Amino acid sequence: MGNPIAVLPAARLEVDHITCDFDGRRVLHDVSLDVAAGQVMCLLGPSGCGKTTTLRVIAGIERQSQGKLRIDGQTLADGALHLPPEARSVGLIFQDFALFPHLSVARNISFGLSGTRREKAARVEELLARVDLQGYADKAPHMLSGGEQQRVALARALAPKPAVMLMDEPFSGLDNRLRDGIRDETLDLLREEGTAVVLVTHEPEEAMRMADTIALMRGGRIVQQGAPYNIYNAPCDKDAAAFFSDINVITGTVQGALTDTAFGQFLAPGYADGTKVEIVFRPQHVKIDFDRGGRGPNPTPHDGVPARGVVERARFMGHESLVEFRMDFNNQILKATVPAVFLPRPGMALWLTVRRERCFVFRK
Ligand code: ATP
Repeated sequence: MGNPIAVLPAARLEVDHITCDFDGRRVLHDVSLDVAAGQVMCLLGPSGCGKTTTLRVIAGIERQSQGKLRIDGQTLADGALHLPPEARSVGLIFQDFALFPHLSVARNISFGLSGTRREKAARVEELLARVDLQGYADKAPHMLSGGEQQRVALARALAPKPAVMLMDEPFSGLDNRLRDGIRDETLDLLREEGTAVVLVTHEPEEAMRMADTIALMRGGRIVQQGAPYNIYNAPCDKDAAAFFSDINVITGTVQGALTDTAFGQFLAPGYADGTKVEIVFRPQHVKIDFDRGGRGPNPTPHDGVPARGVVERARFMGHESLVEFRMDFNNQILKATVPAVFLPRPGMALWLTVRRERCFVFRK
């Protein structure tokens, strides 16, 4: 065990090639993250992919098998050293907030603080003001709403001024009405404090809304890492694309760095002739045109060749409608989103074109 680390108020977290094994089974493979002060990194991925284990290794609750952890260049854990959680300058907020039910709000917040009684009281006052709960010091947790309890949990986690905040689905226990406001306020506050945040979620919309960087995990590995815009618009594979929205997939074979499909030719640079590829596109990148005497619209260089489909079903989804088409060319179903004012009837024939610059081509 080493000494507690002395960190600057704004420090960077480095997770360097971490692996973790449970009972001989590897659950984290070579996980690396770099989170700057005041930045929010979201770990995103399906259930069981290793998000919580990553947080627990950073916190020091689990030991990694290999790799290093550093805050502001100072080592928390490597092959030789394993600082205990309380010496890591790391705050934790979990889904259930886990306030101590028998302690007042003030005592919950001051629980992990050192210093004189006066210093602790001053810090509690400062934090209650920061989370907009002045006057709540003497209340018991059960007297508070879910949103208020979440703010107390935040104040408690912030009290020792941690360099890094680890949050495991911290907003999923709140009702929808409260969630957006509390989420934005919490992360604004953490950014202002210069805290490096690692936040676990399995909801892509939440990650895109909150994160400066998303680390997409699958099977214990980080498969892609980057700004939300980049991950959404340049997914590394079909599953990464599918994690963020419905997708459509058509197949083709490469010939001369191009692949021919019912929607025209797609660029497939870097693939050898004869390679089977999948062309992936999101429903919002499909354009719909009316059937004009069975001929469809003229092809354009931008949108390629129109293909005819028949509406199978259409669902009203608020600001848009999702329409499923059975395509004439191979009988497969493709999805398109259209403005909600348009809800075509099943059986209606329409022409679909695909925005080629928004398609992704992957090896099959
Ligand atoms: P969820 O979104 O469902 O919380 P997750 O992505 O956070 O999932 P983890 O909880 O990190 O996933 O689990 C990763 C893998 O490690 C899973 O296969 C899980 O069964 C396994 N695992 C987690 N904790 C332990 C443990 N203490 N002992 C053995 N296996 C574990």
